[in-house]
Amino acid sequence: MSAADILLSAPPTLTDGEAKELARRFYGVDATATPLGSERDQNFRLRSDNGAQLLLKIANVAEDPESLRFENAALAHIAQVAPDFPVPRVIRTVDGSDMTRFEQDNDTYWVRAISWVAGRTLRDVPIDEALRRQLGSSLAELGRALRGFFHPAGNKQLLWDIRHTADLARWLEHIDDPSVRSLCEECIADFRSETLPQLPALRSQVIHNDLNASNVLVSDEPQPTITGVVDFGDMIHGPLVCDVAVGAAYQLLSGDDPLAGAIQFVEAYHRVNPLEPGEVGVLYDLIRARLVTTLIITAWRAGRYPENRDYILRNAHVAGAQLRLLCQSGATTATDRFARTCMPVRSPTRSSGTDEAEKMLKRRQALLGPAYRLFYRRPVHIVRGENVWLYDAQGKAYLDAYNNVPLVGHCHPKVVAALSDQAATLNTHTRYLHDTVLDYAEQLLAMFPADLDRVMFGCTGSEANELALRIARAHTGNAGVIVSQNAYHGNTTAISQLSPSYEAPETRADWVETIPPPDTYRRATGASEDEVAQEFLAEVNAAIDRLASRGIRPAALLLDAGFTSDGMFRAPASALAGAAELVRKAGGIYIADEVQAGFARFGATLWGFELHNVEPEIVTLGKPIGNGHPLAATIVRHDILESFASRGRYFNTFGGNPVSAAVGLAVLDAFHADELARNSRDVGEYLQQSLHQLAGQFDIIGDVRGSGLFAGADLVTDPVAKQHATEKASQVVNDMRERGVLISMIGPKANVLKIRPPLPFKRSHVDRVIETLSAVL
Ligand code: PMP
Repeated sequence: MSAADILLSAPPTLTDGEAKELARRFYGVDATATPLGSERDQNFRLRSDNGAQLLLKIANVAEDPESLRFENAALAHIAQVAPDFPVPRVIRTVDGSDMTRFEQDNDTYWVRAISWVAGRTLRDVPIDEALRRQLGSSLAELGRALRGFFHPAGNKQLLWDIRHTADLARWLEHIDDPSVRSLCEECIADFRSETLPQLPALRSQVIHNDLNASNVLVSDEPQPTITGVVDFGDMIHGPLVCDVAVGAAYQLLSGDDPLAGAIQFVEAYHRVNPLEPGEVGVLYDLIRARLVTTLIITAWRAGRYPENRDYILRNAHVAGAQLRLLCQSGATTATDRFARTCMPVRSPTRSSGTDEAEKMLKRRQALLGPAYRLFYRRPVHIVRGENVWLYDAQGKAYLDAYNNVPLVGHCHPKVVAALSDQAATLNTHTRYLHDTVLDYAEQLLAMFPADLDRVMFGCTGSEANELALRIARAHTGNAGVIVSQNAYHGNTTAISQLSPSYEAPETRADWVETIPPPDTYRRATGASEDEVAQEFLAEVNAAIDRLASRGIRPAALLLDAGFTSDGMFRAPASALAGAAELVRKAGGIYIADEVQAGFARFGATLWGFELHNVEPEIVTLGKPIGNGHPLAATIVRHDILESFASRGRYFNTFGGNPVSAAVGLAVLDAFHADELARNSRDVGEYLQQSLHQLAGQFDIIGDVRGSGLFAGADLVTDPVAKQHATEKASQVVNDMRERGVLISMIGPKANVLKIRPPLPFKRSHVDRVIETLSAVL
């Protein structure tokens, strides 16, 4: 029998009554039988009175029974090695067989039953990025589950096996559109000479080989999760990467950049089942080959069944357009994109069990004590991160619109590779010579004004501020520090004094003074920029005076230019520069805490201080600088560092070690290469506009603040009284979490929604945030 026979042989045509009778006879089940569609077999849904359901499958008369045994054996293998992976289970007949047969009109029909998998098919659901990534990781899990499985029937001949693409050239004439035909011809020629010879050297195993939307079932939630992968009829033993290429071909988008969807899919696949460089190198060609296969086989079938032509060719137009765009983008660019996506990564963990959260909560309280806080009423148990997505233990995807630490995206492949390579080579400290820390220092300092020419490394933002404070005191000979009213700068003994948002006021040291943030919404309603600036300066002067009344002069004014924990405010253009001048006149210096504001968070400029035209004597960096690795930096003018260095030494065992420095370098590399500063500006603008638009529809949003990918929505109980809607903010944040979008709230009354995502955030992600927000408001 040729591989084409099965596609030409009509499916069986049993009546419902006959199916019901087979169910009773072979499976001892008394059930109603409802027919379901199938390209080459006949399937019935069996429902018995007690509600139990099964799927009865009558195979095409041309089907080789060995192929059916192959499918059954694969399902049994998956059930054994990956019991949580959602595939149907094989149901045995009353006499214990996993398949049986009956004769009709001199033909033999094979019959099987499998368990019913709940859910609707993915065909009926719009596929967004979250779902596309879930598909990628599910296929990867399936690939892992099947890698130890072997069956002789895996060697079967199948038209849809991409390796046979070149054989389909004989049917090219069936494609009507001459331009598509010649594209297919070109692809086949490339495939024959370039791709095919590489395939025998790649990993081979049993693969599903047909992850299309009809073969995936999903739950009925607003953010659906995959409940089943079905139809193992195209399974073969072949190159693993063919499975990825087939799945990715179904994720090509219809717009200008079809590859973008495939890349998301492949990226998610790679996280779970990392691809080898040779596999990545042929992905683009294999995706094209799959499109060619689809175009040729459907054209050929349309010729054989002219009455069904329109239906068979319904997707040909889109596939032709996608092939054209793929060919235009060129193999080198596409392969480069896949290669960047598939840098070496480690396999993630995936834990199971839904009651685990309760147990973990109890363990956590018992072990970590009561000072810690968790986010969300129903805390999230995250086990994996990737770009702007986080995944919980059940595989549910959350769009991360909150975390600024993963500046260049969660688990950025470049950062992960740099970290693991250096960790596998050497990790010591800054008391030995090492190039990497110098390279890193050089590249980091190059991002600052020339005067800021020395950098010292630490592990946390708190440490960076602690060091800045010591340097400021050594240089000025003064002790006092001015911070904003609800500031947060860190958790050491000294810096917690400078973090009123965490420290109870009665314990405030006498060397600390606070100033209100430039609150244009409540405090200075309707005031002009100039008035707000004047008031801000008056507050700084008053703080200097209060210190002086206790005999203390200021060593520093320490500010986060985004006034994040104060509720996110933007000071008028001249205010911070003016405040810095006042403090300098009183004997102090200006320290810019750029832990929040730095690395283009505000979109318009690289650093927060640049947005305010003020040049600090010291800049502190933390959190995002290491993309999650503990790394921080204090950047300082060399003349200011002199007085500190003349009195003592600085050593930080972990700060600036070779692994941290390699991470820091990789973060800078990704930040520049992925053009994240530009992205923060462009997408940030879109985020701000979208939030302003939403505020026009919902009175509860009293004010929208921030800039770039740093946005705040001040929720109020009514727009005139401007009472803080604290409870509502908490409800919104928790409801969004339930719908798979993570944000948080800030401000002294925790009523300001805080949206501050990793910088690779795209417009489609903003749309998702806004849609979800408007649904829960
Ligand atoms: N400064 C600012 C502005 C911060 O937001 C934080 C942390 N939230 C810190 C300093 C302290 O950083 P770390 O937690 O790394 O000590």
